[in-house]
Amino acid sequence: MTLPIMIQNLPEEWAASDLGSTRINLMREGVVTLVGVKKLESEALFVSSEGGGTLRETAKVEFAGKERYWWIARKVNGVIRRVLVSQLDIQNCTVDTPCVQCEVCALMGALNTTTNASFFSRVKLQDLISMQPFVYEEKFRVRLPDDPTRPDANPTPFQEVIVPPGTEFPFIVRIIKPSRRDLALFLFGNQIADGLGYGNYSKLRGDATTRWLLLANGFLHISAHDLLEKADEQSIEDQVAAIAAAPLGVKPEQILTGGDLKSVIDELIKTVKQ
Ligand SMILES: [Zn+2]
Repeated sequence: MTLPIMIQNLPEEWAASDLGSTRINLMREGVVTLVGVKKLESEALFVSSEGGGTLRETAKVEFAGKERYWWIARKVNGVIRRVLVSQLDIQNCTVDTPCVQCEVCALMGALNTTTNASFFSRVKLQDLISMQPFVYEEKFRVRLPDDPTRPDANPTPFQEVIVPPGTEFPFIVRIIKPSRRDLALFLFGNQIADGLGYGNYSKLRGDATTRWLLLANGFLHISAHDLLEKADEQSIEDQVAAIAAAPLGVKPEQILTGGDLKSVIDELIKTVKQ
């Protein structure tokens, strides 16, 4: 298929030297805005701090009139980064010691504390806050010992308050100074990360699906707070459709939705590993 003009007009890709550490001017360098809904397909636990004790509780936040589940963007960013480095088989680049030379570092941001080299993250994810209200429900579980043959090996009981499957989160992403390659890498990394899951450990997979609703070439004004506040009266889909029809900050012809958006996303994802 032929990509729409607004996507064709993006630079094809950046070399690391095009980015450097200089401040990026949003108005001059451009931005794309992606809006979707992430839905958990299995239960997850997003802890903001690892406590001692036997109760682990997923993070929550008071937002748009309700107590809601809170999924910190940094964790999503971290999983996507790890997925991209592994899928693209990038050598000598890890989460702990990023190389600050590869295209993943150049997109997702990196700081190497030994060399002091850095890239500013051009992917800006907002924290994910659930549409559904937080429900406190302790699940009683048992952790089996690593080595069950030891004489002191006993199962350890513990409790968890998790995010249930089916919980949905508005997902707003901006990519600053985007190239087509950047957009493709992000969409590809997000898709694989969704399948692998964002859970804290193997038992809680926290796998997800993302329903992309809109892509805007520009800084679209859209607020997760507004979307959540109105969600009881109007679905997120209908709210986003209304925003696409009368966008703030972007010309209507710079917006893709529906089938056009789906084709562009599929096409871009296919280009990543060619
Ligand atoms: Zn790297």
